[in-house]
Amino acid sequence: MEPNADIALIGLAVMGQNLVLNMNDHGFKVAVFNRTVSKVDEFLAKEAKGTNVLGAHSIEELVKQLITAAHKHQKAVINLTPTVHALQERRVWQLVYADGFAPAGTQCVNCLALYAEEKEACDYCGQAVKGVSDFIDRAAERVLEMDGSVEQVRGAAAERLEKEGSIGALLRF
Ligand SMILES: [Zn+2]
Repeated sequence: MEPNADIALIGLAVMGQNLVLNMNDHGFKVAVFNRTVSKVDEFLAKEAKGTNVLGAHSIEELVKQLITAAHKHQKAVINLTPTVHALQERRVWQLVYADGFAPAGTQCVNCLALYAEEKEACDYCGQAVKGVSDFIDRAAERVLEMDGSVEQVRGAAAERLEKEGSIGALLRF
């Protein structure tokens, strides 16, 4: 494994490339993943040559980097409770979860705050909090509303993530 990244970024369109290089200039180690894997190598060989940018060639690698970063408390979290907490604080920019993960969660009927656990009343507005059956969908929707991205993983990457609570997130801060 390469040294760990501070940040991982999926997608290497021009905007993504500029963002990666900019973060690199500011001293962050950035991990890059693109669905068209050859683009990662191209980017590493050209635009990102001589920088600290790392390349993740698969979702599996990205999940590994997420887990490692979370264990080192480097702008990443794993497991449901910390992930939902980060989501509520608007810190999530990429939500990653194993396909089929369907946790029971709750939501405030008034301000729509999400919680990983049952609560008597909402921390934010004091109103009633009720169980929701489509918790993951609601959480994913919230991330997308914040211009974040959502990655639902399958296969070996999902198995790896399932050992760490089936869900995690890369954080904005
Ligand atoms: Zn509320």
